[in-house]
Amino acid sequence: MPRVSYVNGKYLPHADAMVNVEDRGYQLADGVYEVIGIFNGHLIDKAAHFQRLQRSLKELCIELPVNIAALSFIIDETIRKNFLGHGKVYLQITRGVAPRDHAFPEKSKSTLVVTVSHMPWPSRSDAKQGYSVVTGPDLRWQRCDIKSISLLPNVLAKQIAVEAGADETWMVNSEGHITEGTASNAWIVTTNNELVTRQTDDHILAGITRRTILRLVEEQGVTIKERAFTVMEAQNAKEAFFTSSTALIKPVTLIDDIKIGSGSPGVMTCTLIDMYFNFMENLPKKNERSSYESKSNNL
Ligand code: PLP
Repeated sequence: MPRVSYVNGKYLPHADAMVNVEDRGYQLADGVYEVIGIFNGHLIDKAAHFQRLQRSLKELCIELPVNIAALSFIIDETIRKNFLGHGKVYLQITRGVAPRDHAFPEKSKSTLVVTVSHMPWPSRSDAKQGYSVVTGPDLRWQRCDIKSISLLPNVLAKQIAVEAGADETWMVNSEGHITEGTASNAWIVTTNNELVTRQTDDHILAGITRRTILRLVEEQGVTIKERAFTVMEAQNAKEAFFTSSTALIKPVTLIDDIKIGSGSPGVMTCTLIDMYFNFMENLPKKNERSSYESKSNNL
């Protein structure tokens, strides 16, 4: 079955899905993206991803070339044409094609690309394996809250993990605080059973998975602290984990070769994994809104 991707109004065989060499995304990394998990054909946290996408675009003065309803339709069509059950959607919007110049072009139409790929989700028990993290410097710009396609510092940081045989790199700023992973948010559980993750500001991406987990645990009366933490605090924590739309919740059992807690995935982390699986398995069907979505926005 041929893979189909969407580029600027056309559904094309993936091998023919191309953009112009003068696209500003290619030449200047002048664009934004989103990655959304697909569970049983349904987008996970669609409204929140669309909201973040619209915010990223607004911050960079890039126009969405179609309205949100049309974007949602295009994604659904791409999923349908690829017969996708479980997987992920990648969408990228750039400032479009123009002769290379740093200044915004006077006239250009944004480029929209949507690709989907198959990705089996782990079973609940497979999701409860331990992962290793290494630390490295956070070399990024001052607007990490924007989901920009300019990812070179994240690429370099991830390579540190690859070369160390680890699963993720947690980036550390000049104050010695862990900001986040190269493609994930970082969390610890303290010995007092407080759930800690860095506050959202310009220095991290406000993860959608992070937001959903905070909402799920709020209902359970867990003490949540949104604050910065150091590498040493993470290494002395009872539990640690990282989260993203494609990683879901990954227990961390080693940070720079130091064992976290007992060295096995922690009780709170495993409970959160179960809660997150319950959430995914009960996603609203197409055209239905979760009560959370209805409460929190108009999408
Ligand atoms: N932080 C960074 C730098 C990321 O690239 C990502 C995801 O790609 C995340 C955090 C997690 O965000 P989300 O949960 O929305 O996937």
